[in-house]
Amino acid sequence: MRPEEIQGKAVTVIGGGRSGLAVSRLLVKAGARVFLTEQGEAPAGLQAALEAIGATYEFGGHTTRALAADFIVISPGVPSTINLVQQALRGGLPVFSEIEVASWFCRAPIVAITGSNGKTTTTSLLGHVFRTAGRRTIVAGNIGFPFSDYVLDTTPRDVVVLEVSSFQLDHVATFRPRVSVLLNITPDHLDRYGNDFSAYAYSKCRIFSNQRGDDVLVYNDDDEVIRDYVGLERRKRAFRALAFSLEKEVEAGAFVRDGALVLRISSHEEVLMQAEQLALRGRHNLYNSLAAAVAARVMEVRNEVVRESLASFEGVPHRLEFVREVDGVRYVNDSKATNVNSVWYALESFDEPIVLIAGGRDKGNDYTPLKPLVRQKVRALIAIGESADKVLHELGPCVAHSMAARSMEDAIRCARVFAQPGDIVLLSPACASFDMFQNYEDRGDTFKRLVASL
Ligand code: ADP
Repeated sequence: MRPEEIQGKAVTVIGGGRSGLAVSRLLVKAGARVFLTEQGEAPAGLQAALEAIGATYEFGGHTTRALAADFIVISPGVPSTINLVQQALRGGLPVFSEIEVASWFCRAPIVAITGSNGKTTTTSLLGHVFRTAGRRTIVAGNIGFPFSDYVLDTTPRDVVVLEVSSFQLDHVATFRPRVSVLLNITPDHLDRYGNDFSAYAYSKCRIFSNQRGDDVLVYNDDDEVIRDYVGLERRKRAFRALAFSLEKEVEAGAFVRDGALVLRISSHEEVLMQAEQLALRGRHNLYNSLAAAVAARVMEVRNEVVRESLASFEGVPHRLEFVREVDGVRYVNDSKATNVNSVWYALESFDEPIVLIAGGRDKGNDYTPLKPLVRQKVRALIAIGESADKVLHELGPCVAHSMAARSMEDAIRCARVFAQPGDIVLLSPACASFDMFQNYEDRGDTFKRLVASL
């Protein structure tokens, strides 16, 4: 939809979180009449904020009034399966995500990043690359800054680096990034996709479904699900795609040869830098760095700048974040590891013996893929939260010592008993945090605070 077409339209926004409020503001500015409906209690300040912009609202449930609209905007936190959304779709009412709506207003090229893991890291890394290149850069989306809050400020000379979740992609129609980055697709959030992995995978792949002409897809060629899907799409339509891989020398894109990152973009080959110069450690971050390098080169950032920024990036909190060394033991906060795959990469990143703190709210995890690495690297396992019993049942037999802890404080106390000088105490839960904490930041901050006081 074009911004001019929004004038006078009636729009229902479902969900009163940050992006719900942001998109309401944007739509009101564009001349829409906005009605916001929130299932739960209103978060502090929401009512006043909506009144200030002249939007109407309802809290504590959705009524049929919500259906009296020209279109609906759904917040990423709201499942598509709720009655209201299903009713709207059955009635032929368009349902858009917040990034879809914001993208109608965007005047800058968008570099959009999605994947099951590594989105925030790669988004921040690319933000750093473009800023180092002197480009005015807007980093937004799932990373915590709603796109709608920033989009009116964009100009064609800027670049928008957008972290996009599968929930946002579920309801796109015309969203068209100049560069899309597809990092990996592994099981996550299956509770929101009726336990259907292919439905979840399909929604991630929608990131490039509207790309045309000179737009570029940057994708992980080592990820079977992605590779198959890209192959399938290629047979249906023409689009430009660049691959990255740690397993082979791709024809077009990026790979590693003899410890160096090599780029093959627009048919000639260039050695970018040595992998050991990268600021971010671990195999997963090698993927993230390759992806960022290709995306940056496509956007015409010079080689030297890409090299310098990949070497100087400081990392993102709660992702394999080094906290402190106590008695020769290093404590690492990986609270953002909310699924099995990210824990796999965390374990893979260390050569030292690990005391692993894991558990929380389980999202239907299958812990099997972790077993070989746990056997090989984990000295002791401390299970926390609602899933403690399941974690102990699944992974306990793979380690010499395992036990449940009642709290984070208790977990750190136990970890300290088992850890020997040279070991890593790693908080990498494989689970959501909501059973014990407000969110993963709260969980990571609690861990850091307790470690700081040892
Ligand atoms: P997201 O925003 O997709 O959740 P983050 O960058 O916040 O991703 O990282 C989440 C977790 O996944 C962290 O534990 C991090 O160490 C790990 N991780 C980062 N990049 C990757 C990757 N490419 N593959 C697997 N795990 C990764």
